[in-house]
Amino acid sequence: DGGGYRESQQFASHMMDKAEAVSDFAMHKTFREQREYLPVFVVRQKILSVIRDNTVVIIVGETGSGKTTQLTQYLHEDGYSMTGLIGCTQPRRVAAMSVAKRVSEEMGIKLGEDVGYAIRFEDCTSDKTVIKYMTDGILLRECLGDPDLDQYSAIIMDEAHERSLNTDVLFGLLRDVVSRRTDLKLIITSATMDAEKFSTFFGGNTPCFTIPGRTFPVEIFHAKSSVEDYVEAAVKQTVTIHLGGLEGDVLIFMPGQEDIEVTCAMIKERLEELDEAPPLAVLPIYSQLPSDLQAKIFQKAPGGMRKCIVATNIAETSLTVDGILFVVDPGYCKLKVFNPRIGMDALQIFPVSQASASQRSGRAGRTGPGQCYRLYTERQMKEEMLRNTVPEIQRTNLSHVVLLLKSLGVDDLLGFHFMDAPPQDNILNSMYQLWTLGALDNTGRLTSLGRKMVEFPLDPTLSKMIIVSEEMGCSDEILTIVSMLSVPAIFFRPKGREDDADAKKEKFQVPESDHTSYLNVYLQWRMNKYSSKWCNDNFIHAKAMRKVREVRAQLKDIMDQQKITIISCGTDWDVVRKCICSSYFQNAARLKGIGEYVNLRTGIPCFLHPTSALFGMGYTPDYVVYHELIMTAKEYMQSVTAVDGTWLAELGPMFYSIKDATSRKEKKQQTLKDVATMEEEMKIAQSELVRRKHEA
Ligand code: ADP
Ligand code: MG
Repeated sequence: DGGGYRESQQFASHMMDKAEAVSDFAMHKTFREQREYLPVFVVRQKILSVIRDNTVVIIVGETGSGKTTQLTQYLHEDGYSMTGLIGCTQPRRVAAMSVAKRVSEEMGIKLGEDVGYAIRFEDCTSDKTVIKYMTDGILLRECLGDPDLDQYSAIIMDEAHERSLNTDVLFGLLRDVVSRRTDLKLIITSATMDAEKFSTFFGGNTPCFTIPGRTFPVEIFHAKSSVEDYVEAAVKQTVTIHLGGLEGDVLIFMPGQEDIEVTCAMIKERLEELDEAPPLAVLPIYSQLPSDLQAKIFQKAPGGMRKCIVATNIAETSLTVDGILFVVDPGYCKLKVFNPRIGMDALQIFPVSQASASQRSGRAGRTGPGQCYRLYTERQMKEEMLRNTVPEIQRTNLSHVVLLLKSLGVDDLLGFHFMDAPPQDNILNSMYQLWTLGALDNTGRLTSLGRKMVEFPLDPTLSKMIIVSEEMGCSDEILTIVSMLSVPAIFFRPKGREDDADAKKEKFQVPESDHTSYLNVYLQWRMNKYSSKWCNDNFIHAKAMRKVREVRAQLKDIMDQQKITIISCGTDWDVVRKCICSSYFQNAARLKGIGEYVNLRTGIPCFLHPTSALFGMGYTPDYVVYHELIMTAKEYMQSVTAVDGTWLAELGPMFYSIKDATSRKEKKQQTLKDVATMEEEMKIAQSELVRRKHEA
């Protein structure tokens, strides 16, 4: 297997020169000079003329060649903003925000004016905006109100190689839009060379333009034997690099936030233990990191200190940091995958694909010859890693997308033009879920409830909860709860003050429900005039709470448009729990042992999470519903609410029945009949479609 880790003195001095040249450049050059130094600048005119002559163009270029930051500006400079917006989609929120900021700086204007961005629950654009960065999810939603995307004169679908779910769906939709609107320019950019597929998808003779690269060789080292603990191994490798005497910044890939935090802490700890270790700026980057901290990865570290960036695969192609000469790659990433065992999506850690591994190592050779340390053996790479990452559309729950497509009038989902069609089971599963929520009827058509649900930029379960809450008289409370669920973490627990933090948290907890505990936090914050100090005193993230308030205001706007009245149930929170039950009956579990439950549908065991309000309260309800399962050592239920067994029978009749024998039998038969009808009709539709496809 691999050649082991080596060093070479000659290489070292060469790299030092390079590193100096690079940092010097970034420090002294103007934005204009930096722009003109990018590989894409050399072919600016050629690109613009290909775009002028074609409706759809595919542009391939190495990460860092300037696709994301420059193409929008080129189009603007070439006059496309006179007839409409120039849009650029990104699969990741962080990339949309960070790149928009960078471009506004390059253009010397305030972010949100000529250049803006839009991500879910945050619109930073204005009437003046001509270049708009956004997540692909935002553009997909815009299709609902404006199916021809008339406000745009050009759309760049960036990071197409990433094959995110929303981008894949947009491909299918935009393919039709460009056939209707010949004045629209559609540009698809990819960091990998397999652009052939995109070209074929858009009709064979779509031109594919390649930006000539400027890359340096990267020396690759594989682990000699398989690594037990990749965090430990990455920390060790980084410390070795740092003490090794070569200059250049380090980039470490980690699958997620938790590993990133541990890695950062461990590196700092190790270096503190050493007497003479030179200073190192250890900088995390992941999507939930506050944006001021995110910006740090692009800045020069104080005193020219070496930077060590610890990132999720956001740094694989979406964000480029100059000056990286070392990459440490444990070979893992987190992927959202539909898990048939639990019947829903779960984020799980997987080995990266060979294509990702090669992208990751490429990050070391952007500004000079670099080194990549792979913490897996060459054999593991060849035998255990897939060639390419499976597109998201083929591995996740599609309920939200199915709902969107249905409301766009795409009735024949199995016949929709997907670049890579999702497995039929995925589509049917999602349709089934939507049917149980009442969004689709027995023939798979959108119901009026389903039509209302589409208006909310939320998971169908949460949309349904909001809609039902009006009837149940608790829309005010449910609105708050849904908003609270949209932010990742409310409480913090600083080192050394864990007991204080836990004691404060306990005061907010309502023994029968995490959801109403969240509600409680929000109401008390409101009573304290939305004070930040109150948050800090209670170990609550003030920033997260402000975000909740913003999200709440936006969802309230949609409710107003939909004429859903905001009604409070006062202190009768049983109604709130019942309303939660009405949408989450699919995630219901029955008590089995202490803290242990079994999912009612699948029979798999699931456990109360130690952070739950229900945990260790000495009160163990017979039935609970939960927001999601997280898979660590065990399957833990996150955000749990105690429910009454009869509610489940009443609200989820297709799944559960009350213990009364006769009605149970009837209900069960009715349920089975419904399911059979639905499945039968779907099967007929399916085989009909398959037959038609074969004929065509
Ligand atoms: P591509 O999309 O082809 O990968 P980009 O347009 O993202 O390339 O990057 C071009 C250059 O702009 C890179 O050198 C990158 O480091 C720089 N850049 C991008 N965003 C920022 C930022 N927020 N701060 C500083 N430099 C940035
Ligand atoms: Mg890019």
